[in-house]
Amino acid sequence: MNYPNLFAPLDLGHVTLPNRILMGSMHTGLEDKASDYDKLAAYFAERARGGVGLMVTGGISPSIEGWLKPFGGRLTMPWHKPRHRKLTGAVHAEGGRICLQILHAGRYGYHPLSVAPSRIKSPITPFTPRALSARGVERTIGDFVRCARLAQDAGYDGIEVMGSEGYLINEFIAARTNRRSDAWGGDAARRMRFPVEIVRRTREAVGHDFIIIYRLSMLDLVEGGQDWNEIATLARAIEAAGASIINTGIGWHEARIPTIVTSVPRAGFAWVTQKLKGEVAIPLVATNRINMPDVAERILAGGEADMVSMARPLLADPAWANKAKAGRSERINTCIACNQACLDHVFQNKRASCLVNPRACHETELEVEPAGVRKWIAVVGAGPAGMACASTLGERGHAVTLIDQAGEIGGQFNYAKRIPGKEEFHETLRYFRHRLADTGVDVRLGHAADAASLRAGGYDEVVIATGITPRQVSFPGSDDPRVLGYLDVLARQRPVGARVAIIGAGGIGFDVAEFLVEHAPSPTTDVARWTREWGVDMQLRQRSGLQPAQPEAPARQVWLLQRSEGRPGARLNKTTGWVHRATLKAKRVAMLGKVGYERFDDQGLHVTIDGKPQLLPVDNVVVCAGQEPNRRLADELIAAGMKVHVIGGADVAAELDAKRAIDQGTRLASVI
Ligand code: FAD
Ligand code: NAP
Ligand code: SF4
Repeated sequence: MNYPNLFAPLDLGHVTLPNRILMGSMHTGLEDKASDYDKLAAYFAERARGGVGLMVTGGISPSIEGWLKPFGGRLTMPWHKPRHRKLTGAVHAEGGRICLQILHAGRYGYHPLSVAPSRIKSPITPFTPRALSARGVERTIGDFVRCARLAQDAGYDGIEVMGSEGYLINEFIAARTNRRSDAWGGDAARRMRFPVEIVRRTREAVGHDFIIIYRLSMLDLVEGGQDWNEIATLARAIEAAGASIINTGIGWHEARIPTIVTSVPRAGFAWVTQKLKGEVAIPLVATNRINMPDVAERILAGGEADMVSMARPLLADPAWANKAKAGRSERINTCIACNQACLDHVFQNKRASCLVNPRACHETELEVEPAGVRKWIAVVGAGPAGMACASTLGERGHAVTLIDQAGEIGGQFNYAKRIPGKEEFHETLRYFRHRLADTGVDVRLGHAADAASLRAGGYDEVVIATGITPRQVSFPGSDDPRVLGYLDVLARQRPVGARVAIIGAGGIGFDVAEFLVEHAPSPTTDVARWTREWGVDMQLRQRSGLQPAQPEAPARQVWLLQRSEGRPGARLNKTTGWVHRATLKAKRVAMLGKVGYERFDDQGLHVTIDGKPQLLPVDNVVVCAGQEPNRRLADELIAAGMKVHVIGGADVAAELDAKRAIDQGTRLASVI
């Protein structure tokens, strides 16, 4: 049997789960409007079909005060039940099980009605919450219980009480946010009464045959959080109050230590869950950066937890569990933890999706049906756009030839995978290698396509996915061999001196800076080294798990430059940009705006900063100044009258990322 621990059933008394895989709660943006619940039902049904043992919905509020944002999803009235029945019906029809997550946002609520134990504003929201009165606390507990009862009526197999990540319950537990002196505040015993009463009264209301998962903050990662004794005491009390499962929560949203981004080591927090083993008898769930079956199996086999929670990996591949069980893990479309299409979308109030799987949350709209007429199609360029397009065309039954001048598929992902903390990009390349083979695509590598050969090829249609050309810069000395392009550094591994200036502070400038300052192998490969660098106390002797960060000395001295005013990196993605900026700050990278490039010579790079001349005494300059579309071939073919489609960087290079490239390639292929 493949992964025997992962696929061992789990007996919860009234129900036996078929495996140890929990699909963790994820907000998709489809929870808020009743009209979106058919889409949400299709999304959950596809994942139930994919074999996951138990799923949890995105956070649903038990009251208006508990909204995440105005008019966010809530389950407070009997007339809310029919929309939820669509979800539970669809999941049960596929043989799956689903719990509703009850999430009261507390002071993280992005609206003026938010409430909290005390009137203390969070650093990440503009609204100051109202402090709940003692009656308000009782009413809020009642709201949780009512929501659980409604969930039971709507057909859910259970609920998850969201007690972590800095939301209302966590705010009651921590002295940081609970300054009350009544029965709900003061010492640790009184601060934890709120969650214990919620679980106790909910259990009383729903009876025994209903799952109650409690998401427990095991590592707050903010000043004024809990210490380990308090956490273990709370876990025991939650078990005694009637919880069926304890899930792990790591870090408040306002914490400044990354917890799920791609540079966090795989299973980088499973050791926290392990520490609680033996304190309670109910199953414990490990979370965060678990994305492949071997990682999950290792956690379970090592006794670190009884279940594993994966959220984003099931956005990326709904059939994750079935593929693992069938011994086809190499076919899993792995979540690369980029956050680009999931969390970043949610923060922008957009529907979530997935960079590597654009169908996620769009199951009813982006359908891949067999083609009516089989065509012979050439796709030129095996970067993300070309790989996604060619494999989807192949899946639909077209005869597809994918041509790339390079010796390997992947395009720019072959540079991205070399960046410390972006090792996951290897997985996307592995996935596409198999997918292209499985869909019968004829892959021709080491072959530069030209207009003549494509015309002679007799193709019905040609897709041009030839990507980009790095933008050149021009100033006196820019033709010096010590002025390098980012491809020289990442791919050709040209030697780089001890002091380096990087021209351009976009995504690639930041990545190249990290490449130059980190010592190989990357800290992402070593949990102990990574936690030391970020200041996480693996002994859990310190309150909140915090200790002073001990960043390693940088491998080089780096200046990261941009011409525009303001803070470099301000335009990086919302949920990951701060991690990149903090990483470079810890490595003492000088990040400078309003820079003019004057000349490069033996002394270094002569610049103006805010109009004042300055010499940066560097050995090399690396140019990361953006990109231009590589569409010469497309223009030649169009002029020759061929039926041509242009996608990815070849289409538009500005603001291009792999999310757009894969999405565009997949959507085009679904309609040809
Ligand atoms: P490309 O990836 O550029 O692929 C084009 C392909 O066409 C190449 O393989 C090339 O060899 C081939 N080709 C060109 N001309 C011909 C020809 N005439 N005949 C045959 N083959 C030809 N994006 C993100 O979303 N997230 C990230 O974290 C991220 N990190 C990055 C880090 C680095 C260091 C780099 C360099 C890029 C990163 N990107 C990231 C950007 C992302 O890789 C690109 O947006 C994406 O690769 C663009 O895809 P594409 O298919 O359009 O083009
Ligand atoms: P970019 O984000 O457009 O940044 C280009 C940088 O070069 C900017 O800092 C720009 O700033 C500077 N620049 C532009 N023209 C210049 C010129 N003529 N001379 C000097 N400087 C110039 O492009 P990129 O960094 O190449 O990234 C390409 C794409 O890859 C991005 O759109 C990004 O989405 C994607 N990517 C994403 C990630 C990620 O983590 N999500 C990581 C890497 C790449 P000034 O004009 O102010 O100088
Ligand atoms: Fe994972 Fe990125 Fe997809 Fe989100 S967008 S599920 S982080 S691969």
